[in-house]
Amino acid sequence: MKLFQELAIPDNVALPLTRAVENRQISHAYLFHGNDENLLDKAAQAFAKAIVCTAENRPCESCSACIKTNAGSHPDLIHLYPDGASIKITQIRQLKYSVSLKPFESAYKVYIIHQADTMQKWAQNSLLKTLEESNKYVIIILLAVNKGAFYPTILSRCQVYAFSDVGLKNELIDSVYRVFLAAYEEDYERVFESIAAFHDNDFSDILSCISSFVRDFLACRLSGESTSIYNQAYSGFIQRAAKRYSVEMLHDTISFICDIRTGASANVKLMLQAIFLRF
Ligand SMILES: [Zn+2]
Repeated sequence: MKLFQELAIPDNVALPLTRAVENRQISHAYLFHGNDENLLDKAAQAFAKAIVCTAENRPCESCSACIKTNAGSHPDLIHLYPDGASIKITQIRQLKYSVSLKPFESAYKVYIIHQADTMQKWAQNSLLKTLEESNKYVIIILLAVNKGAFYPTILSRCQVYAFSDVGLKNELIDSVYRVFLAAYEEDYERVFESIAAFHDNDFSDILSCISSFVRDFLACRLSGESTSIYNQAYSGFIQRAAKRYSVEMLHDTISFICDIRTGASANVKLMLQAIFLRF
């Protein structure tokens, strides 16, 4: 699967997306969801590159569009990140204006909205209008851990692809939950013991699990609705614990985890302790 190179993407996701690019039958809107944000980012980037590539075999990696995309400087590939803790309505209004302007170089204008599940009610309403009214050249890719955070009206406008839980084991999710529980109960000795029990799992998987809980706490704080919780099996605990954590701390922790992900290899156990000591 050339489009996604060595990315671990399930066939039922990779095949239709590859076919869409090959046949130039690209939809207006996509939602990529799953608990590995790193993977979602990379997949969206690869997909966007193939969309703007001007060669026959997309992505060719050698046309000017591919080179610009790889350098992060393609003018028709636009990234949107949360402003503070969430994607704000003002950002969606700017997006609405931006989509009304024709592409500079490509036949398409591709927007990747990162952490789209942080979008609040009014921002989602505004996005819905944009999805309904956009020009043909506009392609919007939403990336999210938690599909449950979106209105059904948004979901119905998107082609939804689940990247979720690829390789993530239930035991690991349960182990991570136990550490959060111990931290909530302020039993730090148990926190350290529990980390020791699973810290030899794949580090990236562990971080994905932890992220999904932190996002759930954040979703609870922002929306107050249990439907936006990704780890539904632990919904009761998540709602209870979320009350104690500030939006700033949760947001800061998400950045911290992102930094660990992209940073050099560090002492796994120490990094995990540093995360859980925040709770
Ligand atoms: Zn190319």
